[in-house]
Amino acid sequence: MELILMGLPGAGKGTQADKIKKKYGIPHISTGDMFRAAIKEQTPLGREAKAYMDKGDLVPDEVTVGIVGERLSKEDCNNGFLLDGFPRTLAQAEALEHIMSQLGKSLDHVLHINVDENKLMDRLTGRRICPECGATYHVLFNPPKQEGICDLDGAELIQRDDDTTEKVKNRLKVNMKEMAPLLDFYGQKGYLVTVDGDREIESVFADIDQKLGGIGA
Ligand SMILES: [Zn+2]
Repeated sequence: MELILMGLPGAGKGTQADKIKKKYGIPHISTGDMFRAAIKEQTPLGREAKAYMDKGDLVPDEVTVGIVGERLSKEDCNNGFLLDGFPRTLAQAEALEHIMSQLGKSLDHVLHINVDENKLMDRLTGRRICPECGATYHVLFNPPKQEGICDLDGAELIQRDDDTTEKVKNRLKVNMKEMAPLLDFYGQKGYLVTVDGDREIESVFADIDQKLGGIGA
């Protein structure tokens, strides 16, 4: 089961990735983890990536693609994988097809967890945190007993700068712009499986499982 997971921030990718990983017995491979591991293991590409990152430069596609290739050729990917955060561009998507064919693998599905932008705004801007104890709340989904006040210590809750309407709106816009051509690309190739992510976690997963064919253990 060789999968790519796509979705906007707040769509619940992480939660569903955990469930897919458990049920299908495949590793969840996120770009961040992949980079951290390559750098830690000091692979030639990991060292190269680190040199760019230390300079504050973007890691070029050929290095990123190489790291993905190294990761996908590891033994734990023999039964498949769930790739998350890659590809981000059409050039990367094309490079990925090339790597996979070299490794004798073939993509099964690109799973898109779809949640309306306005719903995502509600999800992402509603987060509040306690500056004293770090407890997290959500104004709609997990409100404190008293509005704006931490249940545990009575401190006044704050909204992180990243969670403000303007920041969230911008983040969604950037992500949508990046994702749209990839959804088209995989849609045309017949890989795209879209699930409605605006439901309870278990319902979303049941739908994913059914659409992937329910072949897990
Ligand atoms: Zn607190």
